[in-house]
Amino acid sequence: MSKLIFFSFNQNKIQEVKKILNYNKLKILTLNNFPKFNEPKEDGNSFSENAIIKSTFGFKKFGLSCFADDSGICISAINNKPGIKSKRFLEQKGGLKKTFEIIINEAKRKKNFNAYFQTTIALTIAENNTICFEGIVKGKISKKPLGKGGFHYDPIFIPNGTKKTYAQMLNEEKNQISHRAIALNKLKEFLEKLFKQ
Ligand code: IMP
Repeated sequence: MSKLIFFSFNQNKIQEVKKILNYNKLKILTLNNFPKFNEPKEDGNSFSENAIIKSTFGFKKFGLSCFADDSGICISAINNKPGIKSKRFLEQKGGLKKTFEIIINEAKRKKNFNAYFQTTIALTIAENNTICFEGIVKGKISKKPLGKGGFHYDPIFIPNGTKKTYAQMLNEEKNQISHRAIALNKLKEFLEKLFKQ
């Protein structure tokens, strides 16, 4: 059986990944399967650079194919920020409530509610062989936070083609259309071809 490392400790992500990449030919290991180590600094300038930092680090450290993801929300009214700094932005602005206020006020002021979520997954299968898979979901910033599901920016993001925020969706519903699911399904298609050979 082939082994593949998902470079993450995040239990929610791990569950989602294992659900989608579910073959008997493939065993997914995560960082929970290894002794503690110092994680690499994510100091890239894009989602793909950060994902590649993690997947190449994992490949070198553990000697197995390794994939890692990096995600965030890009909001037109604030020059496509916070992007790769999505988590830090919440902390800097003093939490969800204040951050939502800032974003919604800026979107109203600029009359621009466009936003998108992006995930990039990097898969390293050899020393100089890393492939990236991208998932983007375009949508609008909600005029007020709505819904209790999901996490972080979910209450203020309405994907195009729906009327609900990510946070108003059931977990399974969000997981079928999310930026992460799109990237993961691309990875799945690639792995299926790889393991058929
Ligand atoms: P990560 O790279 O997947 O850990 O995502 C970085 C940050 O982007 C998270 O801590 C969130 O603030 C934001 N983010 C990424 N995906 C989502 C999502 O599906 N919903 C809400 N916020 C998200």
